[in-house]
Amino acid sequence: MNTRPIYLDHQATTPLDENVLEAMLPFLTSEYGNPSSPHARGRTAARAIHTARRQVADLIAAESEPEIVFTSGATEANHLAILGAALAIRPSGGHIVTTAIEHRSVLAACRRLVDHHGYTLSHVDVDAYGLVHAADVAAALTPDTVLVSVMHANNEIGTIQRLTTIAGITAPRGVVLHTDAAQSAGCGLLDVAELGVDLASLSAHKLHGPQGIGALYVRGGTRITALQTGGGQEHGLRAGTPNVPAIVGFGAAAHLITTDAVPPPTRTRALRDRLQSRLLAALPGATVNGHPHRRLQGNLSLTLPGIEAQDLLDRLPGIAATTGSACSTGSGEPSHVLRAIGLTPDQARATVRLSISRTTTETDIDQAADLISRAARTLRPALADSA
Ligand code: PMP
Repeated sequence: MNTRPIYLDHQATTPLDENVLEAMLPFLTSEYGNPSSPHARGRTAARAIHTARRQVADLIAAESEPEIVFTSGATEANHLAILGAALAIRPSGGHIVTTAIEHRSVLAACRRLVDHHGYTLSHVDVDAYGLVHAADVAAALTPDTVLVSVMHANNEIGTIQRLTTIAGITAPRGVVLHTDAAQSAGCGLLDVAELGVDLASLSAHKLHGPQGIGALYVRGGTRITALQTGGGQEHGLRAGTPNVPAIVGFGAAAHLITTDAVPPPTRTRALRDRLQSRLLAALPGATVNGHPHRRLQGNLSLTLPGIEAQDLLDRLPGIAATTGSACSTGSGEPSHVLRAIGLTPDQARATVRLSISRTTTETDIDQAADLISRAARTLRPALADSA
């Protein structure tokens, strides 16, 4: 019998694909060369990085490999994008625009520009679905604006932004557009040319690659300065000996997606929809957060009025899920994303995030729906009568 909890926390991290592990293993064992070394082992490592760079470029339809800069993850990519691009354009006194629902790493990087570089910062609000409106971005721009950062897909409510429309506002004004695409890159949704973004942050562990590796896409010609200097690696934009096994794993994970070697996002969507309809039927009063259609296929953010989400999860040892995003749980504060879409603090605290991926099975979904419904009814017995 499987005693491990049903894993419904894929927006926090995804399990490593076994093909990815296989691709990485030689670089954790026999192929230990430093890619900067001028001998056979070094050249093998350098070639492997070159391949991975191409594979990641293909995942997001980047034009050329040098547009991919490997980092330790999306947190670092967000910092490199926001601080690196803003400071390259204007060392102090500029203005940046971001949104009310960004990941904390984006908000923190923006904050740094304010606290240490004399920048001003505007936060654009979102509507009740979590959508940013291009007109609001346009209204926030000033003659000093150097950069706009709008996430592609939200990590709590899954809403996918209309970046192309926002690029229509920033590009003609010469304002750099950055997107945190950590959540969407694995869904076949990210085409940087189509979206019109200049910078995009990626993370391998959200797409069945290893943790601790990510990348920043830097459109050719975008001005950007390194935050970490030294050995000149990554075209001078991120010094430090590259994490070769992780980079190889990132490339392999991207390749599985671009070559359709893994179940398609439509399968994940069907499973998510099944979980959603079963829970909505069993728990009257429950509501779904995020946009009804423009939403990540694996995301289900549910508000269960009258129930403390943490109490619910405490009663569900058989399910691995979170109340908000994994990064902000533990802070004790109701999620800033849920608050931004208009939920009250009580509603925010009554919200669970269930996130699924290609490794989720129909049995997982049916068992999870039963377990969650039963636990919710013990916390709010009235549900048992009305269901
Ligand atoms: N941005 C978003 C939208 C995320 O979901 C995450 C991961 N929680 C990050 C950034 C940070 O990514 P990483 O763990 O690779 O630093």
